[in-house]
Amino acid sequence: MSRLVRHRVGNVEIEGFSLAGEETVVIARELNVAFDPGRAPRELISIDNVCITHGHMDHAAGVAYYFSQRNFVDLAPGRVIVHRDLAQPIQRLMAVWSDIEGHPSPGQVHGVMPLEDVELRRGMLVRPFTVNHDRCSLGYSVIEKRHKLKAELVGKSGPELVALKRQGVQIEEWQEVCLLTCTGDTAVGRWMELDFVQRSEVLIVECTFIDEDHMDRARGGRHIHVRDLPRILEAVPNARVMLIHLSRRTELRRAKGVVERFVGKAEMERVCFLMDRPPRPRAQPAREVPASAATSEPIV
Ligand SMILES: [Zn+2]
Ligand SMILES: [Zn+2]
Repeated sequence: MSRLVRHRVGNVEIEGFSLAGEETVVIARELNVAFDPGRAPRELISIDNVCITHGHMDHAAGVAYYFSQRNFVDLAPGRVIVHRDLAQPIQRLMAVWSDIEGHPSPGQVHGVMPLEDVELRRGMLVRPFTVNHDRCSLGYSVIEKRHKLKAELVGKSGPELVALKRQGVQIEEWQEVCLLTCTGDTAVGRWMELDFVQRSEVLIVECTFIDEDHMDRARGGRHIHVRDLPRILEAVPNARVMLIHLSRRTELRRAKGVVERFVGKAEMERVCFLMDRPPRPRAQPAREVPASAATSEPIV
């Protein structure tokens, strides 16, 4: 059975696994993008773009295996998007694996700096941004670019618009729709002020600590504590919010209760936890056989 948990959050289906210190991998299959390879579970291998949020082993350990498995099943080389300062170390890691295995595993390591957009496909890009964790940490937003009629031309008739176009007037403009943002590991910080993050339809954000006496650990390791959540929800008023990266020692049911206490019942409507595995559909109860039918057929 897969370790990954699947949810529909707003308009996006998310599958993944995330426990602090153990593994974090988040996949948006319809967008063909993942955030962190984790230990490179089977479900990740067919995804063409993997954005690495930072170099901690529980997030990035699977990078070599991801490239190698794609090669093994004859998929085109995958692409890993990562902070520019981590691109070379990952390439060196791949070279060492090539020595160990005796053959290379092709893959593209795309180093980026904050706010350097990378095209995922025509009309869709991923935008890295600085978060507040370690030196090379990045969050990522997936942004769709849509054509729309300029605001001042709304209401004009079709023939009028055609005439304007013939005169060389630009009648359309690009509109950016931020479909999804994943912060990776981070504490609260300036990233919460970025307009595309604030407009994001879905925010996947960590919440590592929920215990009252773990505030120092949260601040020391630059992670989010449950006390920070109201501020984060305020920054993204319209987003569905998915929480990831709970500490391994935290029981999910208790975490839900504590989060609700801090954010309030109404806000919980738009908050979910990646690791909240939906209950399995119950087996259909066996149909009762009427007594007469049960006795009318001979038992063979
Ligand atoms: Zn982590
Ligand atoms: Zn980390």
